Amino acid sequence: MHWKGVIEQYREYLSVTDKTPVITLNEGNTPFIACKNLTKAINPDISIYLKFEGANPTGSFKDRGMTMAISKAVEDGAQAVICASTGNTSASAAAYGARAGIKVFVLIPEGKIAMGKLAQAMIHQACVIQIEGNFDEALTIVKGVANEYPVTIVNSINPYRLEGQKTAAFEVCDHLNGYPDYHFLPVGNAGNISAYWMGYKEFHKLGKINGLPKMMGFQAAGSAPIVLGHVVENPKTIATAIRIGNPASWKMAVDAAGESHGAIDMVTDEEILEAYSMLASLEGVFCEAASAASIAGVIKKNKEGMFSGGERVVCTLTGHGLKDTEMAINLSTRPVTVKADKGEVLRVLGY
Ligand SMILES: *Cc1c(COP(=O)(O)O)cnc(C)c1O
Repeated sequence: MHWKGVIEQYREYLSVTDKTPVITLNEGNTPFIACKNLTKAINPDISIYLKFEGANPTGSFKDRGMTMAISKAVEDGAQAVICASTGNTSASAAAYGARAGIKVFVLIPEGKIAMGKLAQAMIHQACVIQIEGNFDEALTIVKGVANEYPVTIVNSINPYRLEGQKTAAFEVCDHLNGYPDYHFLPVGNAGNISAYWMGYKEFHKLGKINGLPKMMGFQAAGSAPIVLGHVVENPKTIATAIRIGNPASWKMAVDAAGESHGAIDMVTDEEILEAYSMLASLEGVFCEAASAASIAGVIKKNKEGMFSGGERVVCTLTGHGLKDTEMAINLSTRPVTVKADKGEVLRVLGY
């Protein structure tokens, strides 16, 4: 059957009617990947699976929420939408907005977003405004504008965003034919962990799964307001997608971790980069640095002895590595340059 996107696939679980114009790029149905090599390297007694959300049409999980947010905005007659973004929300809003034929305004923190994401917003002809400030300041401005003018906010405080994003949990249950013991994911504005928890709880209530995973969210150590218990004024991390000091869905994320007997914890930039490299070299999966916070979390919790053996562990990889090629190149060995000569090439190959 041809996949028609998350709204058509999960219509009965979403706030849509026959009158809702479905704006979709056929998002969702992303790869669910069993990790033999990574599992072997981390702990052979558990099973690690990846939900590779970087395979969505604009390269991140944001598309699941954006198809809902834009479809509902169009249904309500919106001519324009606005968001603050660390990059992926703007990329997704720009693409879905283009498809809907509405205006898209995006506010991004100057110099702190990956080039791939900026390129996406620009090529889809969003109106991109860089602000001399961070994401949290951008979001405050966006909220103010949306309050006073006829533009719909499509950040994750828009309830349709989380509703769309919960479909990823449905897919994980379908892939596993059940529920995982643990679900690890990066935490920035904390919407996604909240959305997954909504999705799992909904499937549980309907009797589609007979238990619930422990939700394990990971912030970057330099931007870990939930872990520290206070707003971080000047969040720092190389993982720009989770460089957020005052998460919009703070309370919901704390509830998700609490109700599920999971946790919100943090990993250092070094741990994130190690996991990012391991995913690429051991599994052939190229994700964003922020995404690798999930695997870094598994490594950290494994060292602390959290797993007893036999657990099924799912990690969401939130975005695609191609968003930020500079990051990958800086961490890798430079290509060797030689003369256009077979002998020279053989010398490098070691033959
Ligand atoms: C948006 C984003 C996150 C953070 O998700 P939240 O819902 O804000 O917690 C993590 N990784 C990537 C790649 C993202 O685009």
